[in-house]
Amino acid sequence: MGAHLLDRPSFAWRALRTAWLVVRLRCPVCGLGPLAAGWFTLHRSCGACGVTFERDPGEVTGGICVNSLATSLGICALALWLFLDEHVPPALETPLVLVFGLAFPLLFYRHSRAIWIGLLHVTGLVHRDEAADPEPVIRPWGAPPDDGGGTPPAVPDPPGAPAAAVGVGGPRRP
Ligand SMILES: [Zn+2]
Repeated sequence: MGAHLLDRPSFAWRALRTAWLVVRLRCPVCGLGPLAAGWFTLHRSCGACGVTFERDPGEVTGGICVNSLATSLGICALALWLFLDEHVPPALETPLVLVFGLAFPLLFYRHSRAIWIGLLHVTGLVHRDEAADPEPVIRPWGAPPDDGGGTPPAVPDPPGAPAAAVGVGGPRRP
């Protein structure tokens, strides 16, 4: 798979690629660095491309929310299946649901946070810093990725505008 395919900026492609990388606990930006540092810890940034996975301090609650939702849905599905399946002894039903409800969120912890990081990535919130960003992330003004950063093209000054009106990124004054 060539690099040009991985950098295709179509939303559907980015979502599919992100989902595949999240399942494998890989960095959603470069696909190389591992997300998980242990069973219950994630790396703060990618060891391969250096991107910060969760830029805001409260992002961990997003992963916990994913985990709670998945656990609740799993408990409902398991309870329904145990209720409908006549082969399972009724005395085992409650212990099975309890074991699932305790074990699943622990086993799913890394993936739940990875899913949240994937959601952040698809919505453009996990990205390299602009100075070192060769990937064509969302740039509404359509600048090419090698223009030296994320600054929009300079608006030409009207004739006779004072030099003090030149903003950051404009032509250097002597
Ligand atoms: Zn990476």
